Amino acid sequence: MRLKGKIAIITGAGRGIGEATAKKFAREGAKVLVADLNQGDIDQVVKSLTEEGGEAFGMIVNVTKRKDVKALMKKCVALFGRIDIVVNNAGITADAQLLKMTDEQWDEVIDVNLKGVFTVSQEAAAVMKEQNGGVILNASSIVGTYGNFGQTNYTATKWGVNGMTKTWAKELGRFNIRVNAVAPGFIMTPMTAKMPEKVLNIMKEKSVIQKLGTPEDIANGYAFLASDEARFITGTILSIAGGAVI
Ligand code: NAP
Repeated sequence: MRLKGKIAIITGAGRGIGEATAKKFAREGAKVLVADLNQGDIDQVVKSLTEEGGEAFGMIVNVTKRKDVKALMKKCVALFGRIDIVVNNAGITADAQLLKMTDEQWDEVIDVNLKGVFTVSQEAAAVMKEQNGGVILNASSIVGTYGNFGQTNYTATKWGVNGMTKTWAKELGRFNIRVNAVAPGFIMTPMTAKMPEKVLNIMKEKSVIQKLGTPEDIANGYAFLASDEARFITGTILSIAGGAVI
């Protein structure tokens, strides 16, 4: 087991990549705090983790709310004594081309994907500094490096996530805190299910493996980066995209 005894917080863990990551981490021996917006989703993930013999706790957390994030860190330390791993997975899209994008679309995506990652990481890093160690993993995307039609707001946030990942790796390394990001290609989740069939087919063709990825493909990357096997890896953006961009 790669993560035996580790304590992990995963945001947006109620479905999609976050849910798959919670399951993978629990199978690898981690105790998981499942943080999300929707109580029904949280309950279903916690139930499935515990039915498999894992240890998990669920909590409603809006990553854009400082109060919620502080309560999350407090709860994790109260329950498990420490925070070894944080996966900043919660993220949203609100797509429109530049000429049609509204201020609301811009603000809501910036708020979750950028401010949420900042707030969760800042609160977690304070705990990790005190305990002299930890791992922060951020959800980026290949579109954060290459751009994407109709995603001004989303690409700005993922570009920002890459920058914050490298900055925090530099700032927090001396406290034995590693910071990395995973940049998925197109993965079949409720987020991408909203996209037109035509776009998904183009994405499939772009991958040299000629497939869309699964949430488990991304969860495997997070598990590796969270584990001690990755102890000398920090400040990196791991592309998991089936060669969609090489
Ligand atoms: P998803 O299926 O839409 O799941 C996202 C989860 O985050 C949902 O459970 C959602 O809760 C939760 N969430 C949204 N806003 C939140 C907030 N303010 N606070 C806490 N939780 C919140 O997304 P996904 O496809 O698994 O993507 C997960 C991450 O990977 C995202 O950061 C995304 O940008 C990134 N990513 C995904 C792909 C892809 O192809 N799927 C590619 C590249 C990167 P509700 O359901 O209640 O709204």
